[in-house]
Amino acid sequence: MAIIIDGKEVAKEKREQIKKRVAELKAEGKSVGLAVIIVGENPASRVYVNNKKKGCLEVGIESFEYALPESTTEEELKTLVKKLNNDDRVNGILCQLPLPKHINEDAVINTISPEKDVDAFHPQNVGHIMIGDYTFLPCTPAGIMEMLKFYNISVSGKKCVVIGRSNIVGKPMAMLLLKENGTVEICHSRTENLKEETLSADILVAAVGKTRFVTEDMVKQGAVVIDVGMNRDEDGKLCGDVDFNNVEKKASYITPVPGGVGPMTITMLLENTVRAVEK
Ligand code: NAP
Repeated sequence: MAIIIDGKEVAKEKREQIKKRVAELKAEGKSVGLAVIIVGENPASRVYVNNKKKGCLEVGIESFEYALPESTTEEELKTLVKKLNNDDRVNGILCQLPLPKHINEDAVINTISPEKDVDAFHPQNVGHIMIGDYTFLPCTPAGIMEMLKFYNISVSGKKCVVIGRSNIVGKPMAMLLLKENGTVEICHSRTENLKEETLSADILVAAVGKTRFVTEDMVKQGAVVIDVGMNRDEDGKLCGDVDFNNVEKKASYITPVPGGVGPMTITMLLENTVRAVEK
């Protein structure tokens, strides 16, 4: 049976450290603020935004919410972002994705000042991640690295297989594992013989977005299995990309869903907001 990686526990400890740093910054007279923009009425986005605001409150970061109607134009959104770029109370800006179809997400992200881009989505920050010299961490992958560190799971020299090549998870995940000297492979929907690849993994990260996609026969005995997926199963229950009940029997460590990667993502967003001020 695998050791269950408790993301809530790791997040709690990390948030305590962040809270102390926020208090120190405030004692120096500095403000620590995060602006969160949400456009339209996507229920999942609303949950994420509420959790982000709750996280801010927990560590003493001031949060400013901008809830805009679905009909907001790209120009209006960019005008708000530019205003926030020049607002001294705001150290970090995040625009909750996805945006309505008529708005070009890249154009909006590129408008956020790289110094306030706490999601680390701006091409300038993505470039920094690529060369391994960065202030802002890619939140989900960085949260995973924190969990590995917390459980003393060494990456150096290990075969790491990441399923998924999105800009938000898969690609930056591969970069962080590489920085820690993992031997990294990225798989995606065109990968041939996926099972052959995943079976070679000492550390397997699933970021696919498909319920119970990773089955027991795809996992090497003793592998560390990290489940990034946030899906709804046939009963509407939150579940990951990994067939947890069966894979748990084979893995050495495994993250559950919920309670694994999720709590760490917001924690790293808070970390980035503090970094924006410290920088
Ligand atoms: P995404 O942009 O849809 O990317 C999914 C990736 O999976 C793509 O690279 C895709 O390959 C690959 N894929 C799809 N079907 C596949 C198959 N049959 N075999 C191999 N690879 C396949 O998703 P994402 O934004 O990275 O998110 C992935 C999951 O993580 C989602 O469930 C999302 O909700 C969750 N998530 C969770 C957190 C968190 O905090 N816990 C944060 C972000 C995302 P192609 O590129 O070839 O299409």
